[in-house]
Amino acid sequence: MTLLTFRFAPSPNGELHLGHAYSALLNQNLARAASGRLLLRIEDIDTTRCTPQFEAGMLADLKWLGLGWEEPVRRQSEHFAEYGTMLDRLIREELVYPAFMSRGEIRAFITDSEHRGRDWPRDPDGVPLYPPADKALPVKERKRRIAENAPFAWRLDVGTAMARAGKDLAWAEFVDETLSATRFVEACPQDWGDVIVARRDIPTSYHLAVVMDDALQGVSHVVRGQDLFSATGVQRLLQEILELPRPAYFHHRLILGPDGRKLSKSLKDTGLAALRDAGATPEDVRRMVGL
Ligand code: GLU
Repeated sequence: MTLLTFRFAPSPNGELHLGHAYSALLNQNLARAASGRLLLRIEDIDTTRCTPQFEAGMLADLKWLGLGWEEPVRRQSEHFAEYGTMLDRLIREELVYPAFMSRGEIRAFITDSEHRGRDWPRDPDGVPLYPPADKALPVKERKRRIAENAPFAWRLDVGTAMARAGKDLAWAEFVDETLSATRFVEACPQDWGDVIVARRDIPTSYHLAVVMDDALQGVSHVVRGQDLFSATGVQRLLQEILELPRPAYFHHRLILGPDGRKLSKSLKDTGLAALRDAGATPEDVRRMVGL
């Protein structure tokens, strides 16, 4: 029987809070129950917001909590060359295109379109979808702009990618944290429009790095927060066009703050370091998150 492999994949762009503690401990419990592996992955591709200080703080918090993971830890910022190879493949296969519109230009395009009475579609986070103009730019024009150093991001041509992927775009989602049964969820990557797959200076994005790493690390079970449920559709599509294996997913409940809202990394009172400083023990944290 193959070993089940779980992972916890935080981004060091702030301090860990109770929501992270729940996710990490749930992964640990599930890995232990299955006599499987628990990996830790540092998702630090955003080199402006992720810092070594935040990473050191995260590792200290996780050790204090009693989390045990396999070494070595995978740090995404150390693997840009690998992501770049995959990006080159997507470029070669014409599944991505350079998108040049600035935020201001996108806003102006949408305002204009809505003035003419047309509601512009938004993604599940409420962000307007990327306008179609750049997809139609002639290759010569793309090359000219890139040569002139125009800022751009590589966006997935979701229509072409879906056509290439074919019909089977569902993923297996466990129905609860006992992981005893799954249901199939149809992936709807088109709801996100042409998502960013890489930046001009960083040859990846969250979606590309996550699917590549889950595959490279042999992750069989992706257990993460409910807030990433619909993003899974984009990741399923990338797995299909890049011919990567598909893990099974469980999107767990979110730990909410006293105001009923999702916790954020800037909410100090639910931060693990603040709780520890205030005298809380790892057992208190487990109790607070219901484990
Ligand atoms: N790095 C992501 C975060 O901190 C989690 C990604 C994932 O679990 O797939 O929100």
